[in-house]
Parts: sequence; C-alpha cells; structure tokens
Amino acid sequence: MTGKTHFIMGVATGALMIRHGFVDANIMIPLVSGIGAYFPDIDKDGTTINNFLHMKKIYYVVVGMILLYFNRDAGTMILAAALIWIGLTKHRGITHSFFALVFVMAITYPYTDLDKALISGYASHLLGDSLTERSLELLYPLSSWKPIFRFNSSFIEAVAFVMSIGAIAGLDRIAAVLNLIGAY
Ligand SMILES: [Zn+2]
Repeated sequence: MTGKTHFIMGVATGALMIRHGFVDANIMIPLVSGIGAYFPDIDKDGTTINNFLHMKKIYYVVVGMILLYFNRDAGTMILAAALIWIGLTKHRGITHSFFALVFVMAITYPYTDLDKALISGYASHLLGDSLTERSLELLYPLSSWKPIFRFNSSFIEAVAFVMSIGAIAGLDRIAAVLNLIGAY
C-alpha cells in the first residue's frame, strides 16, 4: 500500500477511537495515529517515512552500533538490537510482524491517549498490508504463515481509502443511527 493510504487509514483509526470513546477527543489523536501508520515501512529505502526522516536502512544499523558503543544498559541494548535488525531485515519482515506491535506496546506502556493512537495507527498498517496480494508474515520470523484474506492490491487500496474517508467523515455513526431507527 502507498504511504498515503496507510496515513489515511491511520487517521481513520484515530477518528474511530475518539468516536467510540477509547480516547478523549483531541486533534492530535488522528494525527499521531496517522503518523504511527507510516512507521512499519522504515524497513524499506525510499518509503514516505524514511524519506521524511532522511534515513536509509543501513543508517539504522549504524545508529544501533553507535548506541551500543556509548551505552550498554538493557534498554539501550534492546533498542540497538531492534534498530540493527530493522536495518538488516527484509521489507515486510520484523517491522510488519505481530511481535513489532507487541514491542511498540511494551515501550509505550503505561498508555496515554497518544500512545494508544500510535499503537492503533501501527496496527492499521499491518491490517492494510495483510489484505494485499503480497500480504505479510504476521508471525515473522517464527513462521512464514500469511493471513488468507488477500485482494488485488489496487482494488483493496481503493476500498481502504474510500472506507477510511467514510470513517473520518462519520459515516459509521450514520450507519449506527440508521440501524437504531430500524432503517435497515
Ligand atoms: Zn508496509
């Protein structure tokens, strides 16, 4: 999926979380969830997030090694290992796995609303990619199993885009109201 679709899906996730009361209403929520949705693609050169950060995969390895050089406490070692792994792994590898999501959840605990936005944005990226033809290995590196719901990539890209715009515009609420009054 393109960075643009991931961003709009992330924004939609934030909007839905506000509307369903998981977080307080705040303009930062959809913004942070939209940005969070860019993050898994730090595992590929030339993606929106890496262009924005002026990063290449090899730089993550270098940053990880510099961190290790200056500091060897447990937190730094875990972060450095993660950065080095990101730099060396394939695209849609570790950053697109369930374990990366758990890692993000672990380092943001205890959760503020913005943390929840970041986590849900990250998760929305994994959901988006998992629906494409190429899909992703959710349990990487333990298993190469891929979710089975795969669609033509340009088709699912368009569907995800339109549904996200709908969610941001509050069409899910309209649907709920129609449901309430028995319209369908
Ligand atoms: Zn991706």
